Amino acid sequence: MKNIYDITLENLEKDLLEKGYKKFNASQIYDWLYKKRVKNFDDMLNIKKELIEYLKQNYTFSTIKLIKKQVDIDVCKYLFELEDNNKIEAVYMKHNYGNSLCISTQVGCNMSCTFCESGRLKKVRNLKSHEMVEQIIKIEENLNIRITHLVLMGIGEPFDNYDNVINFIEIINNHKGIELGSRHITISTCGIIPKIKEFMNYDKQVNLAISLHAPNNEIRNKIMPINKAYPIEELLKTIKEYVDKTNRRVTFEYIMLKGVNDSEKHALELAHLLKGINCYVNLIPYNETGHINLEKSSKDKILKFYDILKKNKINVTIRKEFGSKVSAACGQLRSSIEEEE
Ligand code: SAH
Repeated sequence: MKNIYDITLENLEKDLLEKGYKKFNASQIYDWLYKKRVKNFDDMLNIKKELIEYLKQNYTFSTIKLIKKQVDIDVCKYLFELEDNNKIEAVYMKHNYGNSLCISTQVGCNMSCTFCESGRLKKVRNLKSHEMVEQIIKIEENLNIRITHLVLMGIGEPFDNYDNVINFIEIINNHKGIELGSRHITISTCGIIPKIKEFMNYDKQVNLAISLHAPNNEIRNKIMPINKAYPIEELLKTIKEYVDKTNRRVTFEYIMLKGVNDSEKHALELAHLLKGINCYVNLIPYNETGHINLEKSSKDKILKFYDILKKNKINVTIRKEFGSKVSAACGQLRSSIEEEE
């Protein structure tokens, strides 16, 4: 049986038409699911009994369970348990521009970036689309708000779960559903080139962020093993193609790691590398974790780095720091729970 939150409106229409129901029945169901937010088929009051029976026999409902919440100023971190007892996280952040949510796309991660807590647990499995949809629904309910901005920057590598991620975006972007605007959705990847190429041809204006974190292969190879498969020069060549093709600006994320990638020389090298690309750089103060022997750069270093990029005409921002109290860096809540267990 398929989970009802797994299905795009288009596929639901197809399914219902094939079974002799009407196309508009799918819109009615979407309305109950995503506008009125009912939690079982019996509550879909304007749907005929026979169709309700069909839905019950062919589709299941929600499966993920909220098991822990940590609250800090402008940030809430959630831990969910999946049907098979695996755990994932999502983080809500209140920004001046809206309500932003960071969701997970996999259980664990195979990318093995040295600084990242998520990768300490190797990938167990991909999340299904409904498990991504439900992170939004459950948090909107919990906080009684609507999410306005979504980032796929929680646990996992979205481009290692491409089909489910795209199916998920089709579901939440639909105006009859959750209706999250594609320009308000950002996919973050460590740089899986074949999938960036595929994503170039995706017709929705979803934003792309690249976890770059280093100005050269030597450093990137050390902290991001994926760089050995897809080195910086090939990654940037692909990004240039992406920008040319889509006319969209790309974000480069750059974690500031003390003594690793944060010197003035590195800033100049980065400026040189990104020259002429329609992009902006998001400098991320590293969120230190108990398990990993890396430290965040000092404020001075970060500001100096910022200034050098600015002077070299690179658009740059410094990410607002959220919730170090709530272990907001991805993977930290789950990993602290697993240690308690
Ligand atoms: N796999 C994807 C998305 C998940 S990681 C990717 O690599 O982009 C989301 C972002 O959080 C990445 O830029 C990642 O490098 C960053 N990140 C991971 N651990 C962090 C930490 N401890 N502090 C700050 N940022 C971190």
